[in-house]
Amino acid sequence: MPSLPQRVRTRAVVFRRIPYQEATAIYELFTYRLGRIKVLVRGARRPKSRWVSTLEPFHVIETVVHRRDTREIQTLQEARILQAYPALRTSYDRQRAAALLFDWIRHLVPEDTPAPRLYTLLERVFHQLATHGPSEALFVAFLLRAAEVLGYPPRLDRCRRCGDRRVAYLAATEGGALCSSCARQAQAPVVFVGTQGLARLQKLQKTPLSQAGSESVSGLLDPLLEFLEGVMDLRLPRPRAPQSPPWGGTP
Ligand SMILES: [Zn+2]
Repeated sequence: MPSLPQRVRTRAVVFRRIPYQEATAIYELFTYRLGRIKVLVRGARRPKSRWVSTLEPFHVIETVVHRRDTREIQTLQEARILQAYPALRTSYDRQRAAALLFDWIRHLVPEDTPAPRLYTLLERVFHQLATHGPSEALFVAFLLRAAEVLGYPPRLDRCRRCGDRRVAYLAATEGGALCSSCARQAQAPVVFVGTQGLARLQKLQKTPLSQAGSESVSGLLDPLLEFLEGVMDLRLPRPRAPQSPPWGGTP
């Protein structure tokens, strides 16, 4: 028996607008209660529609969604802006950085799958991004915490095989760090990060997000992505770099 339609009030971040028919648009939202969803908005393409200014990408909004299990696209009934983050739209680097976060979330959670802790993390990272701009450390901190809230907390403090604290590698099959000698014996692929690199990642796991941006993590994003891809069995997008990643430096 199909379940009854629900009226769900939830916070959401606007990812993007997809033009649809005539005056109608579809919006991709990441919501606190329903996860990543698509909603239909009638009248959203009329120039004077109140929806247009409310549903700008990067806005944090409060919504009322009319939801049916049987529908792929839900209906948006109400929306009001909670936080606009104009700084994210006026800076090209911040826009690119926010778009990369969206790309990662699309890969990390399937549509219609609630992930409230990931949602809360995204809002907190958005705040940092709007306030301080992008940094590689903020992205590394996001990924470390995203893995944790999704149930894959990377264990970095000691070798997952022998318990040695002198760790230098990451192994997806072990869900964390390995020492050099266990890494040599590993059957599955391992990622070299170095003792210092792993110490930095460990430190970043405990650093509040508001201070993460100033940590030094140069060169750690790629090995971390490779490790997390192995742990979660997916492929995560790299910074789209016509010239450079959104935090500057070499591509
Ligand atoms: Zn070991």
